[in-house]
Amino acid sequence: MLDQVLKAIRARQRFVVTSHARPDGDGIGSALACGQILREMGKNADVVIYDGIPRIYQNLPFADRAIQSHTVPANDAVVLLECDSTRRALLQGLDQCFLINIDHHVSGRTFGHINWIDPTVMATAELVYRLARLACVPIDRDIATCLYTALMTDTGSFMFEGTNEHTFTVARELVVAGADPAQCARHIYFGHSTAKVRLLGAALSHLHREGPLAWIWVTQEQMARFGAREEDCEGLVNYALSMGDVQVAIFFRELPDGRYRVSLRSKGEVNVSTVAEFFGGGGHKCASGFSLEGPLAVAVSRVVERLRADPVPANSAPE
Ligand code: 5GP
Repeated sequence: MLDQVLKAIRARQRFVVTSHARPDGDGIGSALACGQILREMGKNADVVIYDGIPRIYQNLPFADRAIQSHTVPANDAVVLLECDSTRRALLQGLDQCFLINIDHHVSGRTFGHINWIDPTVMATAELVYRLARLACVPIDRDIATCLYTALMTDTGSFMFEGTNEHTFTVARELVVAGADPAQCARHIYFGHSTAKVRLLGAALSHLHREGPLAWIWVTQEQMARFGAREEDCEGLVNYALSMGDVQVAIFFRELPDGRYRVSLRSKGEVNVSTVAEFFGGGGHKCASGFSLEGPLAVAVSRVVERLRADPVPANSAPE
């Protein structure tokens, strides 16, 4: 499949590279690296992100060249990265383009003209890295920094299930190519806004526990009070997962229309992607997401009930 991707790229000149809306580190790092790899191949490449580059990723190389837009610029092909449907990219005009779909989600779908979906890798960045190598594009320090950041974030700093010797081999090669692990980590994990930390405090102040489940939420009112943006909610769910006896953490974020965005995280015993898929979303075994109707109490009880139905080890009583 990689051969087909490379053949399709070689046959075309103008590319748009994009990822899903509300992009995470793998979406951003892979897209920025891929854009540069295409330029090194002599192509024109615009990296277009519906929401723009979130603040914590703005230090990445090539981030200043990325375009925030709600429509797709003229192109011969779109490389869609780490995105399991055209709908999630939100870009208008995407369905009319020649689509090269590169993804690692188990829920990845073959909606593109060319589909390279490999759920065995921990991050789409690894597929982009393989593409660069087959295309004989040298991995310089800037490309390596983007790819390493993508790998670091999608593996939860090399802590998520599935992280193995091979993941470290790729990480090592990126470090050898010039990525600085400490600096990459500093920008992501020590680059939060004050608003985000205040929002975290509010979310944790009403932490709920039920056996191996823990959940927190944030409302539109809280976000407005602290001046927090949507991107400030990224990663808050991990604090609910951090307790020793929690297997699954749930984060509810109220949307402006009263619906809720839900992030699920698991330590590995429970496959949360099946729960996300049940509600029309997707993701991975240990990290998945979806949206559902409010009000909050109803949303919480529907999700918690569904998780209770899954084989969560019931070894502790509700708190
Ligand atoms: P997050 O909780 O950080 O928003 O998402 C965790 C993982 O689930 C990511 O890999 C993300 O791509 C996937 N994901 C989140 N929301 C959705 C959704 O609505 N649909 C699908 N298909 N995947 C999602």
